[in-house]
Amino acid sequence: MPDSYQAASLEVTGIELAFGNNKVLRGVDLAVPAGTTACVIGPSGSGKSTLLRTTNRLLEPDAGDVRLGGQSVLRSNPDELRRRIGMVFQHFNLFPHKSVLENLTLPLRKIKKLSPDEAVAAAEHQLDLVGLRHKASARPGNLSGGQQQRVAIARALAMKPEVMLFDEATSALDPELVKGVLALMAELAKAGMTMVVVTHEMGFAREVADQVAFMDHGVVVEAGPPAQIFSAAESPRLQQFLSQVL
Ligand code: ADP
Ligand code: MG
Repeated sequence: MPDSYQAASLEVTGIELAFGNNKVLRGVDLAVPAGTTACVIGPSGSGKSTLLRTTNRLLEPDAGDVRLGGQSVLRSNPDELRRRIGMVFQHFNLFPHKSVLENLTLPLRKIKKLSPDEAVAAAEHQLDLVGLRHKASARPGNLSGGQQQRVAIARALAMKPEVMLFDEATSALDPELVKGVLALMAELAKAGMTMVVVTHEMGFAREVADQVAFMDHGVVVEAGPPAQIFSAAESPRLQQFLSQVL
């Protein structure tokens, strides 16, 4: 895995977002220093996915700011932003009718404007790093879920992002496939990527995160180092959540 990344800091401040009358984000603050990993935990419906989608502007917030490397991204070009912030979803979102290699080369050509040869070279390099070069000509549907998710991670990394967002990247995987994907994510964290990881994997959060943020009802209720969050939680809502999941 080790590769070079120009990781940037990510700061979310006062983000608010409503779907109609449903105020889903009610002033979210999260500061992720460059090269660190923040795990976001919290009950279903608390706004975790919406927060990630707002961070890379799949959704536009009603208020607040998102800064990448200290600069607001809310007026930047969305394509440029998707190049700088990679995202990995629960259901992989690979193109089913393209080969593994084409899944990587397509965004490299369309968004990064690489030549066909450059795109293939970058894609093969990235597939090597996640141990899936031998699957380059396979269709995603012929891979295991864990392999598909590693392809999705490789596709995002091939763009040389400054931040990576993971939305429950292992929730759809069979239990025996979870470990391999978490190991890849842990390696990436260790290699100095800036990461925001929405996860139910409390073991991963405890071991890999520099900070854990607990979200409930559209706000970060409590954030801190894993030792504080898991062993000395202050907020009753977090204590109750942990008593249900640990
Ligand atoms: P989490 O990821 O923490 O489970 P979400 O961010 O997916 O939570 O959802 C938070 C709330 O926003 C939920 O009440 C959900 O129903 C609502 N929501 C999410 N996406 C949409 C959407 N596209 N349109 C309307 N409501 C949505
Ligand atoms: Mg979600």
